[in-house]
Amino acid sequence: MLKWKVAEQIEQIELTLAEINSDPNENTLHPFNVLLGHELRTPLTSIHGVLSLLQSGKLDTQTEEGQALLELAVQSTNRLVRLAKALEHKSVPSLTIWSTADVERLQLANDLYSALEGQEILVFYQPIVSLATNQIIGFEALSRWQHPTKGLIPPGIFIPIAEETGLIHRLGNWVLKQACQQLSMWQHQYPSSSPLTMSVNLSGHQLLQKTPPGVVEQILHETGVSAHLLGLEITEGALIGNQEEITKVLLSLKSIGVQLDIDDFGTGYSSFARLQSLPINRLKLDRAFVSQKQWIVIEGIICLASSLELDVIVEGVETQEDLLALKQTGCQKVQGYLFSRPVNSQDAENLIAVQSNL
Ligand code: C2E
Ligand code: MG
Ligand code: MG
Repeated sequence: MLKWKVAEQIEQIELTLAEINSDPNENTLHPFNVLLGHELRTPLTSIHGVLSLLQSGKLDTQTEEGQALLELAVQSTNRLVRLAKALEHKSVPSLTIWSTADVERLQLANDLYSALEGQEILVFYQPIVSLATNQIIGFEALSRWQHPTKGLIPPGIFIPIAEETGLIHRLGNWVLKQACQQLSMWQHQYPSSSPLTMSVNLSGHQLLQKTPPGVVEQILHETGVSAHLLGLEITEGALIGNQEEITKVLLSLKSIGVQLDIDDFGTGYSSFARLQSLPINRLKLDRAFVSQKQWIVIEGIICLASSLELDVIVEGVETQEDLLALKQTGCQKVQGYLFSRPVNSQDAENLIAVQSNL
């Protein structure tokens, strides 16, 4: 990858973004806009503004205002370095022409930095239900992005961006902490002999950076949640690759005492032989099995999982008909729109409250 090409591309994108954002009545490129309180909307324009002020001797770095401008330039530089790194890791054959979709994606990546600062990432919760008792036994934490102008953005859009930009670590840790805090609050408010569990998705990127064990332990400690009530969901696809390295990380997570789930099971290439060598507790069957009404396959997987002492949760249960068919397969735990869509913490709490009063 030629570095100058990346720099050139960033500049091109920045200029495009500046053009998209520019107000014809406002001279956004003029450095004084910063001092006048106008936001310089892209990293390059803010760095350019601050450098111009410094060069012309008009920036007094001893003042609070001057310090704030320098801080802005440093933050912008960091953003561009991250962006350059993300681009360098992408083997893009031709970087010269950027589609609108590419530019929009970069704009979202840019926005995601401030989204984390501005608490725009929300955690929703979807119940996991036991078919034996018809009770909610736990929740899966699913993040959403409340974008200031684009509305609610689903994780399918912003998680891959977070992964590409390296923001997934901060985002993932934030979601984990939020979910554990929420579980701890519910445990205190609604004490039960069979306490609720919380499942949190872990990206393959987080797994490979080997950060999880220490962070998970610290969050459990801070929130007072027992390790065995926390489940970490790792998609089947993320487990493909360096088996030795992945097994090591999984083992260190397991040693903390948390539950390890394979998410979207059946969509990747896991074999039961491979499963046997992984330190996991639970399979979450991909919702495609239910939508395609593959009841016999589901029954077979439940049976094999049970012989490996693995728990199974079937995802994507949408209708009573699905539920009836699933009950015949030996399925014991389910998740799906039939019971509840992922909801905000207040609505999830209402579901717990109803159940506690029964
Ligand atoms: P997932 O972990 O497999 O989560 C289940 C997804 O299926 C959720 O989509 C949920 O809304 C959806 N779902 C649940 N029940 C039904 C149903 O009955 N029918 C249908 N059609 N869909 C159902 P969502 O929330 O859009 O999340 C998509 C994926 O994004 C998640 O799949 C997970 O892989 C990822 N994700 C979400 N939040 C996070 C996060 O905080 N961190 C990471 N790393 N990944 C996340
Ligand atoms: Mg999941
Ligand atoms: Mg899933």
